[in-house]
Amino acid sequence: MIPRRKTRQVLVGGVAIGGEAPVVIQSMTSTHTHDVDATVRQIRRLAEAGCDIVRVAVPDKRDTEALPAVLNQSPVPIVADVHFHYERALEAVEAGAHKIRLNPGNIKDRKKVNRVIAACRERGIPIRVGVNEGSVVERRNRKLRATQRQRLAADYRSEMIRLMVETLEGYMHIFNENNFHDVVLSAKSTNAGMVIDAYHAVSEWFDLPLHLGVSHAGPPETGRIRSVAAIGSLLAMGIGDTIRISYAADPIHEVEDARELLCSLGLQDRTTPELIACPTCGRIEIDLIKLVDDVRQKLSSIKTPVKVAVMGCVVNGPGEAEGADVAVFAGKGRGIIYVQGEQKRTVTEAEMLDALYEETVALADRVQRGEVTLSHRRVIIAAAEPPAGEGGNAPQRAIPDE
Ligand code: SF4
Repeated sequence: MIPRRKTRQVLVGGVAIGGEAPVVIQSMTSTHTHDVDATVRQIRRLAEAGCDIVRVAVPDKRDTEALPAVLNQSPVPIVADVHFHYERALEAVEAGAHKIRLNPGNIKDRKKVNRVIAACRERGIPIRVGVNEGSVVERRNRKLRATQRQRLAADYRSEMIRLMVETLEGYMHIFNENNFHDVVLSAKSTNAGMVIDAYHAVSEWFDLPLHLGVSHAGPPETGRIRSVAAIGSLLAMGIGDTIRISYAADPIHEVEDARELLCSLGLQDRTTPELIACPTCGRIEIDLIKLVDDVRQKLSSIKTPVKVAVMGCVVNGPGEAEGADVAVFAGKGRGIIYVQGEQKRTVTEAEMLDALYEETVALADRVQRGEVTLSHRRVIIAAAEPPAGEGGNAPQRAIPDE
């Protein structure tokens, strides 16, 4: 297990963040919150995918007015995302939101912040104070802005991180004066390296739980890599108590990626199959890439963490698939299926998908009935002989004649 940094703990609805609690997955709806049906539908899908807490935007009064209906139907705690208008925060608290997110860059007035803190204290609701690269830059005071620009031009990264920490510190003075400590902090940037450095600095200054994320990460193809690079690095250092992987796409994928990241780091137990597959090479004799994609989709209905391997041949396959509960080793037009170390079936390429699925379902059922345990017997196969020269082909030799 990765040792985690110790922080205070806050409760969002029934979900604990920080302290000894497991890392919590968050996402955000992309619907208009005042469209209650669409918002509730998306929240339910996110919760079903494994999202622990969902954030909703409340830019208008009609959004906070819709919150009670959303909250009544939500299976998970809801965070109201507030920018510019502190009244939305007060209305969201009144509506029963489980947490409020404030941005020090656009709600600065001490009296207004005091009122939000008082309302949250009365209801026992935590507040996330989130800065990002764009919100800490001075925009009104021209003299201050000019000085900032000079400093940023000299050493952008160090100066930006200093600004983020300084902004959080200034804002936290208000919270400390109110003796209010139910706070989660975030310090986001669009740059993965900056995110790593910023959270590292914030984690040294504050003992509050941290919400990790990369802001405006872009489309999934690049956004998920930026997010995973930053969030994964921080989690590996023990920093981070709740995460949101974000990019411009259906948020359901954010949750799937977040779960995979936490499982990969051993910070969450798997509840669905783990798929390992060879990357393919010149030894391949079937359309493995399509097979892997089909297997991935088909296995998604199984709720047991069976480890499944789809390998293109037996040259490297045995070693790579050795930890699998169910594995297929494909050769020319045929494949061998192993279940917990036993060779079960030889199937044609056309039968491979269904056969692998059937064997995985059968094993998952036996695990559910308590007849076997996962990892009881892994696939262990003797290494294939080297290719036998011209015309020779080790993978095909490994597949028995019918
Ligand atoms: S398992 Fe076989 S086909 Fe797949 S990458 Fe390894 S050597 Fe190539």
